[in-house]
Amino acid sequence: MDSLLKENAMADLAQRILSGDGIALARTATLIQKRSEQATVLLRELFPHTGKALIASFIGPPGVGKSTLVDQTSRLLREKNNSVGIIILDFEAASSGELLEDRIRMIDDHLDLKVFVRSVSCRGCWETAVAADMAILLDAAGTDVVFIDAVGIQQSEVGIARQSDIVVRVLAPGSGACDQASADAIPELADVFVVNKADQAGATELESKVKLHVSSVPRKDSRLPPVISTVATESRGIEELVSNIQAVYAMGRSTRQVDTWEQRLGEMLSERLCRSVPRSEIYRGARDIVEHRRDPFTVIQDCVGRMHSFHRS
Ligand code: GDP
Repeated sequence: MDSLLKENAMADLAQRILSGDGIALARTATLIQKRSEQATVLLRELFPHTGKALIASFIGPPGVGKSTLVDQTSRLLREKNNSVGIIILDFEAASSGELLEDRIRMIDDHLDLKVFVRSVSCRGCWETAVAADMAILLDAAGTDVVFIDAVGIQQSEVGIARQSDIVVRVLAPGSGACDQASADAIPELADVFVVNKADQAGATELESKVKLHVSSVPRKDSRLPPVISTVATESRGIEELVSNIQAVYAMGRSTRQVDTWEQRLGEMLSERLCRSVPRSEIYRGARDIVEHRRDPFTVIQDCVGRMHSFHRS
């Protein structure tokens, strides 16, 4: 009886999400953040209804103007009657919440029923999985464009980029050594390049440098990513940016998609396996290693044994 009630409640929640109900969305987003098994059940139900949203992420060094661009791009898309979802990943949650508060305050300025903002505090656990699941949720709810905005840190940007249909790599003059280095780092992972802060000295040189770089780096998909110049704070170049994002998206899904899912399935598998071993067991293993009661290899062996019995039961 209990499980029937649960099943009905889940089916009802899934229906409400598909009709774009904001409360159902918020409830499910919380379940996703908690990595609840109920979220997995819901996402499985929702997945067949996905594939329509454009999922875009803005990556690049801190301070180049990524969140200002997300904000301005969302405004423009809203004016064009698109629904927008923004997933903010806060990688600095452990040290400071200030950056995140700024982000939310900025986006709050134009918050309306068609914009869904969800912040995710990351302390190094499954952050990209949370972003990917949230994107599935928003896609199923009929959101036209979903932005993933990562606050603070660069090292997880490859993971974030892999969750997106379109990756916008943002550069700005004055980010010093970062200028070229970040353009070089993962050329395959950028679909559109933006030289923001075009109102500042050095922007024209940087734009030429990026254009040269883009045309000289061979890509698996043999696409030539556009390079757009913007002044996000004055909303300059945003129209061009949006039309380029849409044009690249219209060219069809990039060859990255299969690689993305291959990577993601590996992550999902390791998340599932890790979750089948209680934290207390891992903690006990760590203590045993420090106190030289067991070696790390035996600890892992014991965990694997436990996982097998978990999955057999
Ligand atoms: P993020 O860390 O990459 O997300 O960068 P933010 O969007 O938080 O912007 C960092 C700072 O640069 C803020 O003070 C923005 O107001 C400013 N900024 C953003 N875009 C521009 C621009 O086009 N020109 C100028 N001069 N400043 C900008």
